[in-house]
Amino acid sequence: MSDSTNEKIIAIDGPAGSGKSTIAKALSKRLNLEYLDTGAMYRAVALVSIQQKVEIEDEKQVLAIAKEMNFNFENGLCVVNGFDATKEIRGSEVTRVVSVVAAMPTVRQEMVERQRLWVEERNGGVVEGRDIGSVVFPKAKVKVYLTASEEVRAERRIEQEETIDASKVADSIRKRDEADRGRSTSPLVRSEGAIEIDTSLMGVEETIEEILGIFKWN
Ligand code: C5P
Repeated sequence: MSDSTNEKIIAIDGPAGSGKSTIAKALSKRLNLEYLDTGAMYRAVALVSIQQKVEIEDEKQVLAIAKEMNFNFENGLCVVNGFDATKEIRGSEVTRVVSVVAAMPTVRQEMVERQRLWVEERNGGVVEGRDIGSVVFPKAKVKVYLTASEEVRAERRIEQEETIDASKVADSIRKRDEADRGRSTSPLVRSEGAIEIDTSLMGVEETIEEILGIFKWN
C-alpha cells in the first residue's frame, strides 16, 4: 500500500455493537471517503455457504465459495452474486455461523486481498471490522478501537434486529466476541497505535469530533 493511500485510510475495529458501522458511515460522509463494512464480506461468505448447503466447518468448500463469490459493497448496499443481500446477511442463521467461516485462515486471506484492492482502487476509505488496524492496514493514518459496555451493545443490537429477546441477543454477542477474540488467525485486538474510545455514553458527533481532533485530520 503506498504512503499516500495509507494517509487516506481510517481503520475502525471493535467488538459487536460497539458503534463501528454508525461511526464509520458518519466519518465517510464527513470526509467524503467511501465506506467498507468488512463484516458484510464474512457474512456474505456465510450466507452463500448456507444457501449452497455446504458443511460450514469444511474450510476447502467454504474457501471455494469465497473465491467464486461476487461481492459488491457500494453506498451501504451489499450485492452478493448479483442479488441484493443487504438484509439477508443480517439474518440470525448467518449471525450464528459467521465466526466459524471468519476463523478460517484461507478465507481470511481471500477477504483481506479483496479489502486491500477495494481501498487501492479508491485511494483510501473508511474501513471497519476486527483486524483492520492490526492486519489489513497496519499503516493506516487513523486507527480507532471502539468499545461499549455489554449492556449498551446488546441494546443497540436489539434495536437493529427488532427483537425483544434481550437475553438471546446478549448471549449471541458474547459468544461471537469470544470466538473473534479467541481465534488464532487475526483475532480481535486493539492494534498498535489505535486510540480506544468507549462509546457507551457518547453521541455520534461527539465521537467523530474526538477521532478527528486526536488525529488532526485535514
Ligand atoms: O461486523 P459484523 O458484526 O457484521 O461482523 C460479523 C463477523 O465477521 C464478526 O463476528 C467476525 O467473526 C467477522 N469479522 C472478522 N473480521 C473482520 C470483520 C468481521 O472476522 N474484519
